[in-house]
Amino acid sequence: MCLWEENVRKVTPYTPGEQPAGKRNIKLNTNENPYPPAPGVEQALKNIDADLLRRYPDPNGEPLRSAIAGLCGVSKEKIFLGVGSDEVLALAFLTFFNGEKPILFPDITYSFYDVWAELYGIPYERIPLDPDFRIRKEDYCKPCGGIVLANPNAPTGVELAQEELEEIIEAHKDVVVIVDEAYVDFGARSVQPLLDKYDQLLIVRTFSKSRSLAGMRLGYAIGNEKLIKYLSDIKFSFNSYTINRATILAGVEACRDQEYFEKTVDRIIRERERTGERLQNLGFEFFKSKTNFLFVTHPSLPITELFDYLRERGIFVRHFQKPERIVPYLRITIGTEEEMDELIKAIETFAGEHRA
Ligand SMILES: *Cc1c(COP(=O)(O)O)cnc(C)c1O
Repeated sequence: MCLWEENVRKVTPYTPGEQPAGKRNIKLNTNENPYPPAPGVEQALKNIDADLLRRYPDPNGEPLRSAIAGLCGVSKEKIFLGVGSDEVLALAFLTFFNGEKPILFPDITYSFYDVWAELYGIPYERIPLDPDFRIRKEDYCKPCGGIVLANPNAPTGVELAQEELEEIIEAHKDVVVIVDEAYVDFGARSVQPLLDKYDQLLIVRTFSKSRSLAGMRLGYAIGNEKLIKYLSDIKFSFNSYTINRATILAGVEACRDQEYFEKTVDRIIRERERTGERLQNLGFEFFKSKTNFLFVTHPSLPITELFDYLRERGIFVRHFQKPERIVPYLRITIGTEEEMDELIKAIETFAGEHRA
């Protein structure tokens, strides 16, 4: 090690899913949307006035912030925009968790939470999910520095019932509770109706999954004006101009076309159910998903070999190496009908070869 290296901040970073080059692959490993964004998005980007790029964008992301506020039925003072929900979450950890008491989140959840906690030196406790991959509300009803729950949870896809979530929020009026709703549009119930009741509740959502804009990087938080103000003060102490002009244009158009949004989301939900049935017929096991992915295991097929087999055929799914309990699982994003046909075909061949 060089001398200066001793004085460097060292972290263990989050590992994003693989982004293979080329369009020919069947990419079912990072929960992207298989359909393009709303047609208005493409038009808006084509018509972009390049001369305007000389100027900084609006520091609060207007008029996108207002469009999202309209979509959510709240005033814009309750909305905070970020470069993907990852940035919103990273800033929320920095703002709301002061490091005095440990924050709580499940042992199996979005694997970025512990990375941010480590980065900021926030103590944390990972609370084991029950054997059915469920969050047990009783485990969260104890003093802590804050709570972070993805609902539906990732990578399990399992939804926590609103009533149980509310009990957790009700028990923690002294700390901020973050609910990460990255997948809420795929058939789950949003905790948003509880916002008026609990001013320590912060909801985080993204345009990456249900609105097909992972490549634009756009996420947002909804919360009480005071929460948003604190979050915003931290952001303006870090980087004033986070949302760029292209994102603002694309985001506004994505908000506008609700019909397209509903149509594509419905199609993914239908395909999730169809794929689930077919996987079940092949002997796979999984818990009910309310997301755009299935988290599956198999009692006899070797999962790691299946992962490699699919990958060799250009079909990318996600296999996590930790925690131990999820190593026998694959997380499969729901793609188009054709992509899922290809996946099932490949799995059938693998299963056939394996039995023989
Ligand atoms: C995908 C995802 C995010 C991050 O999404 P962005 O692309 O940064 O908006 C956050 N939380 C969970 C649970 C996710 O699955």
